[in-house]
Amino acid sequence: MESWNVKSLEALPSALDQVVTNSRLGDDEYFIQKIISMIKKLQPSEEAFYVLDLGLVSNLMDTWKRNLPMVQPFYAVKCNPHPNLLATLVAQGSSFDCASPSEIESILALGVSPDHIIYANPCKASSHIKYAAEVGVNLITYDSVGEIEKIRKWHPKCSLLIRIKAPDESGCNWPLGSKFGALPEEVSPLLQATQTAGLRVAGVSFHVGGESYNFQAYKTALEAAKAVFQEAAKLSMPPLHVLDIGGGFVSEPSSFEAAAATVKTSVETYFSEEERRSLTVIAEPGRFFAETAFTLVTNIIGKRVRGEDRQYWINEGFYGSMMLVNPKTLLESCIALKCMSNNSDGIEKNPVLMVCGKATGGARTYSSTLFGPTCDSADKVLEGDQLPELEVNNLLVFRNMGAYTSACSSHFNGFGSAKITYILTHDDS
Ligand SMILES: *Cc1c(COP(=O)(O)O)cnc(C)c1O
Repeated sequence: MESWNVKSLEALPSALDQVVTNSRLGDDEYFIQKIISMIKKLQPSEEAFYVLDLGLVSNLMDTWKRNLPMVQPFYAVKCNPHPNLLATLVAQGSSFDCASPSEIESILALGVSPDHIIYANPCKASSHIKYAAEVGVNLITYDSVGEIEKIRKWHPKCSLLIRIKAPDESGCNWPLGSKFGALPEEVSPLLQATQTAGLRVAGVSFHVGGESYNFQAYKTALEAAKAVFQEAAKLSMPPLHVLDIGGGFVSEPSSFEAAAATVKTSVETYFSEEERRSLTVIAEPGRFFAETAFTLVTNIIGKRVRGEDRQYWINEGFYGSMMLVNPKTLLESCIALKCMSNNSDGIEKNPVLMVCGKATGGARTYSSTLFGPTCDSADKVLEGDQLPELEVNNLLVFRNMGAYTSACSSHFNGFGSAKITYILTHDDS
C-alpha cells in the first residue's frame, strides 16, 4: 500500500478534482483514509462528496473480459450515469444499455456509435421510439403486443429482442419480473404478432433480477431463452441469433466468477457448437461496473442523546444517495473517521473510530440512529444499530456506493445528493 504516490498528491493544485495514484481504493482502509485526509486538507468544506476510482473500473472490465470473453457488455446507464464513469467505459470498449432518449443522447454525445446502444426498455412512448429511429439506435427490447404496433409505425427497420421473464428470480435483491418479461404462454402469440407486423425478431433478452446471488438463475433463464429460439424456428421465422443475458452481476470476485461460469456452461449446454457460431451474446451489467468504484464521504452535522440512544444527522440521506441502499449494506460499508477540531483541516493522525459498524479499540457502542438532512421523518438511513460514540464533524465514509445511489437522488427540500466527485486516475507505470 505504500506504492501510493504521496508526493504527487501533495503537489496538487488547490482546485483538486483529479488525483493520479498507483493504488486503488478497494477495501484498503488505510488508502481510503489517506485520500480523504488529503482531500479535506486541500479543500476544507463540510459538504458530502464522492471519490470515484476509475482504476477500479478498468480492473472490472479486465475481469469481465477474462471471465466472459464471448459476452459484450452493454453498461446499464441508469445504474450510475456519472460522465467520468461513462467516458472510462467508452474507452474500455463497453457498449451501452439505455432506457430513455436522454440516456441515448448522453451516450451518443460521448462519440459512441448507435450500433453500440441497446434501447432496453420494453415499454416506450411512441415519440421515444421515433427518436431512436432518428438517431439510428436499431436494437430494441419489447414484451407486449401493444409495443409491436408502436414499433411498426415509428421504427419498422429495427431489430427486436423479446424480453422474457426469468423463470427463477430467487436469490436476487431487486426482482424485476412482476413488471418485465413475457410469460412462457405469451411468447408464441407475441412472436406471431411480430411476424404478422413484418418486424424482425433478432433474439431474446432476460434479467435475473438485480444483485443476484443465485447463479442457477442464469441457467434456467438460458434454458427458457433456448425454448424461444425453438418456438421461432417452429413458426418458420428467420433464425434468432442474439442472446441478451441482462444484468444482475455483482463484482465480488467469487460471486462473479461463479455467475460467469454458469453462463458459460449453460450457453454450451443449450446451444450447439454450430448454433453458437452464429450466436451473438451480450449482457447489460449495471451494478457490476459502478458499485465499488464510488466511495461516499459524509459529515455528521448534528447529534442528540436520548438516554442510551445516540442520534446523528449526516449531510446525505434517503433523498440523496441512499433511497435504494439496503441498511445492512450501508452499515457493512461504513468507516467513521475523526476530523481535526475545526473540521476543515484534514483528519487526525489516528482517525479511525469505526469500521463496519464496530468500534475500533473496543470502545463501547450504543444503539444509534442515522438521519439524513431533510425534514421528512422517513429520511433515516440506520436505526437501532450499534455504533461507537460519534461527534459532530466526524466523517462517515460509505464504500461501494456507486450503484443506484446518486442516480436516484431527488432535490426534495433543496438537498439533492453529494455534488462534488473527486476522481482517482491511475498511473501504473
Ligand atoms: C437495471 C437494468 C439492468 C442493470 O441491472 P444490474 O442488476 O444493475 O446489473 C440491465 N438491464 C435492464 C433492462 C435493466 O432494467
